[in-house]
Amino acid sequence: MPDVVGNLHLHTTTSDGTGTHDQVASAATRAGLDFIIYTDHNVSAEGVEGWYHDSSTGRKLLRLMGQEINDQSREPELNHLLCHFVCSDLNGVAADPQELINAITERGGLSFLAHPLERPGYEAAEQMYPWISWDISGYTGIELWNAMSDTKWHLRTMLRAVLGAYLPNWVLNGPFPELLIKWDELLATGQKVVAIGNSDAHAWSFSLGPFTRVVYPYEFLFRAVNTHLILPEPLNEDANMASQQVYNVLKMGHCYVSYDLIGSPRGFTFTGASGTQEAIMGDTLTLQSEATLRVVSPHRAKLRLIKDGQLLTKTQGKELVWQTAEPGIYRVEAYRQYWGQQRGWVFTNPIYLRAEV
Ligand SMILES: [Zn+2]
Ligand SMILES: [Zn+2]
Repeated sequence: MPDVVGNLHLHTTTSDGTGTHDQVASAATRAGLDFIIYTDHNVSAEGVEGWYHDSSTGRKLLRLMGQEINDQSREPELNHLLCHFVCSDLNGVAADPQELINAITERGGLSFLAHPLERPGYEAAEQMYPWISWDISGYTGIELWNAMSDTKWHLRTMLRAVLGAYLPNWVLNGPFPELLIKWDELLATGQKVVAIGNSDAHAWSFSLGPFTRVVYPYEFLFRAVNTHLILPEPLNEDANMASQQVYNVLKMGHCYVSYDLIGSPRGFTFTGASGTQEAIMGDTLTLQSEATLRVVSPHRAKLRLIKDGQLLTKTQGKELVWQTAEPGIYRVEAYRQYWGQQRGWVFTNPIYLRAEV
């Protein structure tokens, strides 16, 4: 099945990013992405969606439009919500997270809680924009790994900030462990919660004395934390149909989060089979006496199979197979060594193994 890679959280000059729509798209093609979704703050742009052909690389990219919405009159501005596939003005309902989620769903969009848990950066709590209104339902999922959130935490002292500005590969580590726990808690309530991973790229420059540098430019970040979609067939030449394909797969959770810089995870699969049924990540599988879960990785990695938030088994290698008669929520984490540290590489959406009723 085709594995297409994209980034679903990024900013342009339409809000507080530094690249135009075309500059960002060009950076995405250089990084090898197949699609991007623009998510400027509380605003979207018209006339940008569709296939973009980049003359410098000869590659093409599907451009889709979304927004990152929060109540901008609130101090501090918490509860950032990624809204994909909806371009209408939703600022009127931004103050009430549930109303906002409902409005997105009614308009046929998808909603993901952006950087739901954050850690203080160099300027401490002033820079944190976590999600705090957890009494909500009906959203599509959460942003499990936000590269800029992770970066902000790693650059929390002046020394680390200088090192990180010049050695970006040293910085990214993985989703915050407390967010993995939170995700498992949300899944345990019985809802499907689709996890995605993104850049949140702005490409800001920072100055230190006489030196000014764009830290974490678009292209670097697009080579880093992304979301891979498992499609039943390649993206259609028709942009509207391709958009529908991306929508369907995201909604189903047929996707995984990865840190592509460590090694391309294309070909990474997590599948299940029980009786005559087959499932991929994001699917529900009805247990018929026993099920087989299989993980296949294109590179050697530390593979961990998680059931209902607990480590079930682990191995070092390219394959993990597990037989079970236990219903539960099964998901996979893969870790690899990079720049002297073990780092998060792949985080799949779950296979929901349900008991036969
Ligand atoms: Zn945000
Ligand atoms: Zn953002």
